[in-house]
Amino acid sequence: MDVPLIDLAPQLARVRRESHRAVLRVLDSRHYILGEEGRKFEEEAARFLGARHAIGVASGTDALILSLAALGIGPGDEVITTPFSFFATASSIARVGAKPVFCDIDPATLNIDPGKIAAKITRRTRALLPVHLFGRPCRMDAILRLARKHRLAVVEDAAQSFGASYKGRMTGSFGDAGCFSFYPTKNLGGAGDAGLITTDSPKLDEKLRLLRDHGSRKKYVHEIVGWNSRLDELQAAVLRVKLRRLKRWNAERQAHAKAYHAAFKDLPLVLPHDERGALSIQHLYTVRTPRRDALSAHLKKAGIGNAVYYPLPLHRQPCFRHLGTGRFPEAEKASREVLSLPMFAELTARQRGAVIRAVRGFFK
Ligand SMILES: *Cc1c(COP(=O)(O)O)cnc(C)c1O
Repeated sequence: MDVPLIDLAPQLARVRRESHRAVLRVLDSRHYILGEEGRKFEEEAARFLGARHAIGVASGTDALILSLAALGIGPGDEVITTPFSFFATASSIARVGAKPVFCDIDPATLNIDPGKIAAKITRRTRALLPVHLFGRPCRMDAILRLARKHRLAVVEDAAQSFGASYKGRMTGSFGDAGCFSFYPTKNLGGAGDAGLITTDSPKLDEKLRLLRDHGSRKKYVHEIVGWNSRLDELQAAVLRVKLRRLKRWNAERQAHAKAYHAAFKDLPLVLPHDERGALSIQHLYTVRTPRRDALSAHLKKAGIGNAVYYPLPLHRQPCFRHLGTGRFPEAEKASREVLSLPMFAELTARQRGAVIRAVRGFFK
């Protein structure tokens, strides 16, 4: 039995009729940008996430760029982040003209290690940019404590963690700004590119709304130089349909992770686990083994989808090598050992069983 790493077909089947109706409604309305759907989605997402404001933007990458820009971060500034994430985490810092300063990860969570952040703070540091990688929350209490002590802004990259929580609060609602992506394969995915920023600050909300729309609140009057980065109505309409079901879908992912955990716990594998107070939404189910490449080949032969997120840490990307910001042994080791297994809400019991048999078969 072949099991894909992720399959969008059964998700579409669950919302197909309702999404079609939503898309046609927008198409027929002839109002495609900054309208009712976007406004309602912002409202509904803010309520879901426990944030005062939510601002729709064109992508998760733009959510990060606009948040940093709205906080006034630019040339001469440093932003501390993880070297083990998707490229956009660090490119957004570089894109506003600031310098990404990497800080090694905690091997137990694969997230930035709060205990290593203080050593990276200089007088140029302006912000911390933690990533809730694979849907698993960072230790936000420790990160917020550091930020307060050193008067740093906090921008959360919550692109993989819509609905994950830490000590009862949703990821993305801790920092000055929370950044979300609705890239189609994210746990809340649009039908194209889309993103969102959450904030509790009315000032930041206002600034972000200006920045996403050419620095303009009145047509043809431009107060500042911004971007064209708006969430379009078609994406908003599709996302509203899915958001209504997201709690259930996240719970299904969590149930799959629980079943994987029970089936793998006696194997020589490092399994993902939630720290105290953290509730992951299992965006990816990522195991670790020094025999990663052999396990990957074995699974591939058995028809089980699998992938390495991420094979090249950010400090080793050709475009960032010039930064020369040090050594990150935990991130390097993780990039050699991680392997993500099939994970999506609609995974069937049979598919899950096939994954489990194939993984156990490798260690026999
Ligand atoms: C997907 C992702 C982004 C970027 O989101 P896009 O919508 O693709 O621009 C940023 N950070 C992380 C961790 C991501 O997974």
